[in-house]
Amino acid sequence: MAPMDKVVSLAKRRGFIFPSSEIYGGLNGAWDYGPLGAELKRNIKEAWWKDMILSHDETATMSSAPSSFAMVGLDSAILMNPKVWEASGHVGGFHDPMVDCRETKGRYRADQLVIFQLIAEGSHLPGAGFKDLLFASPGEAGKTPNAELLMPHKKRIKAIRKKLEMDSEFQIKPIENALTKDALRAKIFAPGASKPGTLTAPRSFELMLKTKVGALEDKSSVAYLRPETAQGIFVNFKNVCDTTRVKLPFGIGQIGKAFRNEINPRNFTFRSREFEQMEIEFFCKPGDSDQWYKYWCDRRLQWYLDLGIDPSKLHLREHSSRELAHYATGCADIEYSFPFGISELEGIANRTDFDLGQHMKASGKDLRYFDDTETDKEKRRYLPHVVEPSAGVDRATLAFLCDAYVEDEVGSEQRIVMKLHPRIAPIKTAVFPLVKKDGMPEKAMAIYRSLSKNFNSFYDEKGAIGRRYRRQDEAGTPFCITVDGDSISDNTVTVRDRDTCEQLRLPAEELVAYIDNQLTH
Ligand code: ATP
Repeated sequence: MAPMDKVVSLAKRRGFIFPSSEIYGGLNGAWDYGPLGAELKRNIKEAWWKDMILSHDETATMSSAPSSFAMVGLDSAILMNPKVWEASGHVGGFHDPMVDCRETKGRYRADQLVIFQLIAEGSHLPGAGFKDLLFASPGEAGKTPNAELLMPHKKRIKAIRKKLEMDSEFQIKPIENALTKDALRAKIFAPGASKPGTLTAPRSFELMLKTKVGALEDKSSVAYLRPETAQGIFVNFKNVCDTTRVKLPFGIGQIGKAFRNEINPRNFTFRSREFEQMEIEFFCKPGDSDQWYKYWCDRRLQWYLDLGIDPSKLHLREHSSRELAHYATGCADIEYSFPFGISELEGIANRTDFDLGQHMKASGKDLRYFDDTETDKEKRRYLPHVVEPSAGVDRATLAFLCDAYVEDEVGSEQRIVMKLHPRIAPIKTAVFPLVKKDGMPEKAMAIYRSLSKNFNSFYDEKGAIGRRYRRQDEAGTPFCITVDGDSISDNTVTVRDRDTCEQLRLPAEELVAYIDNQLTH
């Protein structure tokens, strides 16, 4: 089985992630988290909230931070006044022209298809090196491009498009527009298609999911499911300043659902239509934003490493100046080497005062910050600049799952073990009586009850002890506690480490302190 298939199969088999509404055939781009997945995802969100907001010490300067700062939380509504999305540029800007292939049933972005065609033909490309850009490894270059090869390389295609437009007279746009002409479309193959001419005309595909609110169905009842949580923070900037009296620099963090009508949901939960984000908008003085941008890039990268992600699979990819949005002065992606390719987990951007400026213009409300430390009266009111670390909960969960998946051997037995960091592991301790007699179940249950008050714990007395260990290895449970004959007489138990399989003997009354210590280190 391919590595990704193994993770998907374990996720299904052990109740981490199920296709949404599966008994009805599922819904593309929507996923349900089962009992283990719900805990894993909740632990990831809680780790983020605790590390970024709750346990943040605003009275001290953290190492490598330019100064001390405050962090506060927010929980804004999914439904917002549609004017928010006009001001933010999402209405009108948040869609791509798409083309459907009647033969392969695939849907493609028009510009990607044009580039794909050019690459397939080869002859139209100005200069060398474009073909290499398309493929992940030189080994792939000899293969016929197909949808699987093309689609994961969206970023490379973006780069090719930029390079084409920068390096030559070549303009994609006219060709893209030409796709509206039947004659031109008649010559183009979709990736993987056997005959040309089965493409539909390009259509605009709204990426925001629309809904209706209220009893009346007219234009005024249109609302959108938010495509990001960030705008909820910007529109509450003034409320937060007025009610908490936070001073610059400070950050507002929020975790919540976001929705995008993704053209082509794929790679398990990686690209979904309903997903969750963990976003921070960090407000600072305009002149300080570069330093804060650097600080947040380092800090967010370190967060994944502290939760056990393999450093060789985590990358910070700085965008080139050509890739930046017109208002941004810096942008980097934290990427993870997934089995399906290197892909974005989180984006960190220096967005200047663009968002607050847009909302100030559109709402007519003065969103400027009043800086009482500024001696020059004229300069006291200004729009802060913003650094935005924007992470996906589902993508982080998927990266942790892929990273944790290990097949190894214990003795002569093969096992699958999920080496999840103990902080995010769904179940922290499992308690087993060695056998179902001689007072062992009663003692094990008493220990289970005392542990459950502190940690998510599991009691299991069914089957051979080896099988019970294997089941917990697959669930990622870091500690298995076994009650045996000696436990009855001397009140000690064995604690088995999930990763090393080593066992140590501890007095039962020391268990809570021992596990607590392991979970926080
Ligand atoms: P991509 O280029 O992969 O579409 P993006 O650059 O559009 O992502 P942002 O708008 O920066 O993504 O969103 C911030 C974060 O939200 C992403 O880094 C990702 O973790 C998460 N995210 C965005 N879209 C999706 C999605 N369709 N499914 C799951 N997570 C998503």
